[in-house]
Amino acid sequence: MDVHGPRLGRLRERMDVAGVDALVVAPGSDLRYLSGYDALPLERPTLLIVRPDGPPAMVAPRLELARVEEEVLLDDLEVHSYGEHDDALALAGRVIGAADGATVALGDQMWTSFTLGLQRALPGRRWVAASRVIAPLRAVKDADEVERLAAVGRAIDEVHRHVPEVLRVGRTEREVADELAALIRSGHDTVSFVIVAAGPNSASPHHEPGARRIAERDVVVVDIGGTLDGYCSDMTRTYAMGEVPDGFAAAYDVLEAAQAAAVAAVRPGMTAGQIDAVAREALVAAGLGDAFVHRTGHGIGLDTHEEPWILGGSDVALVPGMTFSVEPGFYLDGRYGARIEDIVAVSADGVRPLNVVGHGLVVVG
Ligand code: ZN
Ligand code: ZN
Ligand code: ZN
Repeated sequence: MDVHGPRLGRLRERMDVAGVDALVVAPGSDLRYLSGYDALPLERPTLLIVRPDGPPAMVAPRLELARVEEEVLLDDLEVHSYGEHDDALALAGRVIGAADGATVALGDQMWTSFTLGLQRALPGRRWVAASRVIAPLRAVKDADEVERLAAVGRAIDEVHRHVPEVLRVGRTEREVADELAALIRSGHDTVSFVIVAAGPNSASPHHEPGARRIAERDVVVVDIGGTLDGYCSDMTRTYAMGEVPDGFAAAYDVLEAAQAAAVAAVRPGMTAGQIDAVAREALVAAGLGDAFVHRTGHGIGLDTHEEPWILGGSDVALVPGMTFSVEPGFYLDGRYGARIEDIVAVSADGVRPLNVVGHGLVVVG
């Protein structure tokens, strides 16, 4: 099934509405989304150029042409290659060709060196971020993307099932993280990140696993993710090494209820802000509102973090095909923290959880 042709069609409609005359993306998730090509982010530019009419064009180094041929899934692609001594960005400027005063959208992940070179090649144009037209498209997955996210969700579920075997008193966070990375690799193509935060470190949401040895009564937050077929997993569970610290069990029960309520509230027509409010409500009532220091979640797809943001006050309406994390937590400095994170997909009439491992506190040993 051709998914890239229809994506370009939808992109052109959005460009038209937004008054964007040309769009240029460099290697990264936007390029992969639009063309299928997982290009190398080299100092030699590879640029996909979308104009209102005419076929999509790609400016690519001659030595990458075999890969372009093999991996780009756009059948009407116009290829402009350049040699080692050519000015690639001047060539790209000619291919973009938008008139003086035209609006050109550049991919958000484009290197500054390319951005400045294109601006030099095309003076007098208006420059905007491509996310304003691409991000809302990418936020709503097609059926094929939802199935890929479901598959990578099953792969990370499987890793969490094995976490209790890997967590041992006396092991360092780093040792545990290395072993988890190997487990992730066995079911994914790549490892994106491994957070193992033990004891007081669990109060730091993005803790980097280090030399701390896991101790009796530690709470351990394990947040892990990888990619499969380009699509990302991201899943958190909280574990306890034997008996939990004072006060933790009651707080964890509130968190578990808050996460479940937020997932249950997901359906078309709800706003992202409403989902955040549902997750926050029970934690605030329990006096843990200030300890929930981050948004409730983020969209996920070809990037681990992408739109929509599940953020207080957001009036972005949920529509079928949106996929995002629901990951409330609480963090008490110097003591402990906890987080529960699942990926969910908005379905026609509700929600489809893409992670299914239980949410209760897992007591190890
Ligand atoms: Zn994160
Ligand atoms: Zn996470
Ligand atoms: Zn996340």
